[in-house]
Amino acid sequence: MEKRKIIIIGSGPAGYTAAIYAARANLEPLMFEGFYSGPPGGQLMTTTEVENYPGFPDGIAGPELMALFRRQAEKFGTTLLSEDVVSVDLKKELFFVKGSGVSAEAPAIIIATGATARRLDIPGARDGEFWQKGVTACAVCDGAAPIFRNRPLFVIGGGDTAVEEAIFLTKFGSRVYLVHRRNELRASKIMCERVKNHPKIEIIWDTVIEKIEGDSVVRSVILKNLKTDKLESREAGGVFFAIGHDPNTGFLGDQLELEENRYIKVRPGTTLTSVEGVFAAGDVQDHVYRQAVSAAGSGCMAALDAERFLSMKGHH
Ligand SMILES: Cc1cc2nc3c(=O)[nH]c(=O)nc-3n(C[C@H](O)[C@H](O)[C@H](O)COP(=O)(O)OP(=O)(O)OC[C@H]3O[C@@H](n4cnc5c(N)ncnc54)[C@H](O)[C@@H]3O)c2cc1C
Repeated sequence: MEKRKIIIIGSGPAGYTAAIYAARANLEPLMFEGFYSGPPGGQLMTTTEVENYPGFPDGIAGPELMALFRRQAEKFGTTLLSEDVVSVDLKKELFFVKGSGVSAEAPAIIIATGATARRLDIPGARDGEFWQKGVTACAVCDGAAPIFRNRPLFVIGGGDTAVEEAIFLTKFGSRVYLVHRRNELRASKIMCERVKNHPKIEIIWDTVIEKIEGDSVVRSVILKNLKTDKLESREAGGVFFAIGHDPNTGFLGDQLELEENRYIKVRPGTTLTSVEGVFAAGDVQDHVYRQAVSAAGSGCMAALDAERFLSMKGHH
């Protein structure tokens, strides 16, 4: 059994940033980086170019950026374990963390397990097909890429995120199509009005996307009208899934207070959760901003909150 002052669960921008701060404060953090839960390094491991992370004016590949985060965390003394946390016991004073191989305990924990963007498993959207070659799950992240400029873009979904992404993409695409399987949007009324009145957006009702086709990039989509079963091919330059995210909170059971949508509830403006000594950072507690820089920022906050908590409790 490993005994530490602090354990960090999750290895995206939030987890590594927390580790850098905790390690530099001599807290010798132990990090469970994850393995089957997603690639160590988090969501940016699945993307190509990151152009909005400050400090990299020429952009940087997602995996390269995360390798730098990891190196910095390790350099200051973080112990990294490439395995998943299976369960935790937060009822004890020394919290117990059960990994798939190693178990550990500590008086403080930072949870930074992120969220997983939902993707549709349709032909053309998979890894090795057009995923990240015109198919993505983040318009804010990828919309400005040259491959989407002046091309017809398809947003899949009907909630607030889908509507916001459609409006955002009108800056780049020649036309934006919002494909929704029902005949009514779930988004707020004001957003629905904006999207319906936008001259560059067309809503395609009662329709699902069946297939994405192309050569080296996306060239067309096959749509199916659910009322008539009719298939239609349309020219396309990009497909943006906006069908929601799932926070990675399953391993917590019911030991922490969660929001209705299963994101971790934190005290506003802090990383404090419902259990003293347990802190949450990054996308696992943020369903609004969901960016690498905001995740990293809250990772820093979590380490500072944890450090303060530990010194208050006399763990120097
Ligand atoms: C395709 C795509 C492109 C994007 N592009 C950009 C961009 O250009 N710019 C930008 O700012 N943002 C971008 N984002 C968003 C950005 O990736 C996220 O906001 C950011 O990664 C969130 O960081 P995080 O540390 O909270 O969590 P994540 O990056 O989600 O990392 C969480 C980590 O926790 C691990 N984990 C999960 N469960 C467990 C467990 N039980 N035990 C141990 N480990 C676990 C996972 O394996 C993962 O490594 C993009 C997202 C996607 C999906």
